[in-house]
Amino acid sequence: MFCLRPSRTALALVTCGLVAVLCGCGCSGSSAETGGDESAPNPTVPAFDGACALELIQTQCDFGPRTPGSKAHAEALVWLLAQLRELSGRVLEQRFSSETSFGGPYDFCNVLAWLGPQTGSPLLLAAHWDSRPTADEDPDPANHNSPVLGANDGASGVAVLLEMARLMAQTEPPRPILLAFLDAEDSGSSDSDQPYSGFCVGSAYLAEHWPEGWAKPAEGILLDLVGGDGKPIPRIPVRPIHGAVEFDLGLESNSLDANPKLVNQVWSQAEALGHKAFVRKTSGYITDDHVPLIRAGIKIIDIIEVFPLTWHTVDDTPEHCSADSLYQVGDTLMHVIYGGS
Ligand SMILES: [Zn+2]
Repeated sequence: MFCLRPSRTALALVTCGLVAVLCGCGCSGSSAETGGDESAPNPTVPAFDGACALELIQTQCDFGPRTPGSKAHAEALVWLLAQLRELSGRVLEQRFSSETSFGGPYDFCNVLAWLGPQTGSPLLLAAHWDSRPTADEDPDPANHNSPVLGANDGASGVAVLLEMARLMAQTEPPRPILLAFLDAEDSGSSDSDQPYSGFCVGSAYLAEHWPEGWAKPAEGILLDLVGGDGKPIPRIPVRPIHGAVEFDLGLESNSLDANPKLVNQVWSQAEALGHKAFVRKTSGYITDDHVPLIRAGIKIIDIIEVFPLTWHTVDDTPEHCSADSLYQVGDTLMHVIYGGS
């Protein structure tokens, strides 16, 4: 994600009406109120588990930096596809190749997965799964040749979506959900003359090549940088670009322009739940994966921290992520989807 205008395995057990799904990390969920009355108009909102999401960050980071062309990138894709195929009967690999600001051409893959009712207009939920080839915001220039592990920048959004998918596979959501795991978001450069300064390659490809037979969503929610722990890091000086050190999620301006109603719905839901990371201060126009999709007619908003101290540094590691931050985001979205309050 790039700031343009800085104004800124599942094993399913079915026993005596209890449905539990165990993910690869050993997390289990049981919201199993569906066992009694499947016609209930307001199903219980399944309980999002922030600790499980944090483990899903660790799992992704264990592959290493998921940078274009790397072994870790290829292995993480295999893992992601396996996770989704356990949870959804409808998964699409959208493969393409592209050059980036750092070379190539590389092989890329956007992954789509459908959950919930098979018909109707889906809500798009998206995150990028690649990580950045250079830690170019690191205060130590010697680290600029190192890739970013992307625990927060990449893996956090994927982790929240996978934890949500685990729950949604178990308790069918009242509306269709289209998950999009976008590749090649984070290989841009401020001096690039490519569209979006070379960022958002995967989302731009999806926007321009919407797959046949997949209903195009009217609206959606993008997650990026949603797992920070909001703690100071002594070696990283706080700069204006970081905003507040604590984990907070402000109102992103492209999102407000595209779909103010959905922004308000999400932030109001978070406030009703007492999730204090959601703050009503403007964070400016951010070039992120929602922008190409907005231009393609999808009114998608971005939930993003602008910017954590670890952003594009070698400290973007699981140790600087927080289960509570992931919970605040995941719990809010589960309530938005299931209509709980
Ligand atoms: Zn990034």
